[in-house]
Amino acid sequence: MTTDGSGSGNGSGNGSGSVRVSVLGLGAMGGALAAALVKAGHTTTVWNRSPGKADGLVALGARAAATAGDAVRAGELVVVCLLDHASVHEVLDPLSGDLAGRALVNVTTTSPEQSRELAAWADRAGIAYLDGGIMAVPDMIGGPGSSVLYSGSAEVFQRYEALLGLWGTGDHFGEDAGLASLYDLALLAGMYVMFAGFMQGAAMVAPAGVSAREFASRAAPWLTAMTGSFQEYAEVIDGGDYTVEGQQSLEFSDLGDILAAGSAQGVGTEAVAMVQGLIRRQIDAGHGTEGFARVYESLRRPA
Ligand code: NDP
Repeated sequence: MTTDGSGSGNGSGNGSGSVRVSVLGLGAMGGALAAALVKAGHTTTVWNRSPGKADGLVALGARAAATAGDAVRAGELVVVCLLDHASVHEVLDPLSGDLAGRALVNVTTTSPEQSRELAAWADRAGIAYLDGGIMAVPDMIGGPGSSVLYSGSAEVFQRYEALLGLWGTGDHFGEDAGLASLYDLALLAGMYVMFAGFMQGAAMVAPAGVSAREFASRAAPWLTAMTGSFQEYAEVIDGGDYTVEGQQSLEFSDLGDILAAGSAQGVGTEAVAMVQGLIRRQIDAGHGTEGFARVYESLRRPA
């Protein structure tokens, strides 16, 4: 299931127009989510632990609640965007009775196990729970490229699909509340390793007088072009045959030259050494002539 993310929706899935929605947590992200709801005409109540953060939203048309309990009681749909799992429990635990019978969407970043734990807590309290993982920074909310991953109650996702679509394209991954978080963290894993790779390269060229900015202008189109390989690797991984013709072999992929060049420049080489370790494990196990995608097996079966 996917929301369109066009930002044009204005109401619940049942077509009744304005939703009574409450947002708990008005940090950088919670504030952006709440602003999108207010601007779309939803009856939005906001609450934040520290005072002052609701002022701009009230100017837009939101109602500020004095307590988290007041905010929960004002909304049929309660959105939580706090720092972490512990802060979510700290705020919601005393309010389980008020939340009973309402829909709760938690877009706080949590681990899959924490999401499942909160879903079980909500289930025991009679709260319909949808977990969300935001794949955007606050400035992107409601704009192109923003997406939010959901799992947990499909019923809540469908009922509020238009409203959720105001933040970005929404996808529902299933009733297991931990799946959105798992997907979120897996995507972030890819992002951080890519960033480390960029910084590895920037550190290597710096001693030659190349600025990080100059390097970035080359690295961005190069890495963008390379993402085209993901689908090809994925086909090999899903097919489970790393001997398919036409693949770059693991032996060919040896990163010794890159490590040597980095060392010669006098910089650390940990980022690329990590990848070399994954490659070497497969070569040492006798798979050197097989495709580079076999690196996946080094991760799937940890040493
Ligand atoms: P901020 O640090 O800007 O805001 C944190 C919010 O949590 C504030 O409203 C803060 O209240 C509140 N808070 C923290 N601890 C408690 C507590 N014990 N009790 C009550 N309220 C508490 O973070 P963001 O808004 O950027 O992030 C919020 C969530 O969104 C995080 O889980 C983050 O991982 C996720 N997210 C953020 C993204 C981003 O780019 N910013 C991207 C994707 C996800 P107070 O003002 O009183 O301190």
